[in-house]
Amino acid sequence: MSRACRSCARAFEDGEPLDTALLRGPEGYQRVDLCAECWAKEWADPSRRPENFVSHWKSRYRAPRPEAEPIRKETAEELLRHLIERGEARMAGACFILCVMLERKKILRMKARTRAEGRLWLHYEHARTGESFSVPDPELKLNELDVVQRQVGALLERGPEALEREGALGSDNAASADQAPSDKPFPEQTARERADS
Ligand SMILES: [Zn+2]
Repeated sequence: MSRACRSCARAFEDGEPLDTALLRGPEGYQRVDLCAECWAKEWADPSRRPENFVSHWKSRYRAPRPEAEPIRKETAEELLRHLIERGEARMAGACFILCVMLERKKILRMKARTRAEGRLWLHYEHARTGESFSVPDPELKLNELDVVQRQVGALLERGPEALEREGALGSDNAASADQAPSDKPFPEQTARERADS
């Protein structure tokens, strides 16, 4: 869409109604945007249209939006690494969903499922780097799945720090520093050692 009227060269304003004509040119179709006034004066009357006039429609000029805030979204993989590093029990569901997402994208490969400490652990390997990622299966129920998926969406969109500042991450009693370390979901080595035994 042009930014200005082809005829009077006035720049369009955002939301301004305009008239667009399609003309047949030597190298295909050519689009011509006119302000409503110029359209009325020049081509509204069909007898005044040029021979190569093909069609016409009314539209509105939409000014290009300013660039969105330069917040770089975390990729699912970056977010997973980030959350595993944080090692918080309340993030177990989010980590699980991220692993499933990355497995679908063939970034992670499921290598094994094991039981340790009464829970199921999922062991993944990074398809490119060979790194291992172990996460507990949070055994989400259907109604929890929805909540966790939304949480992952928000985490990907805005990052854990922003959500935390707003208190949107929920409590993490199970993973606070003075709790038994076995409550933490990501003693990765431990999990893997157990998996091997
Ligand atoms: Zn004009």
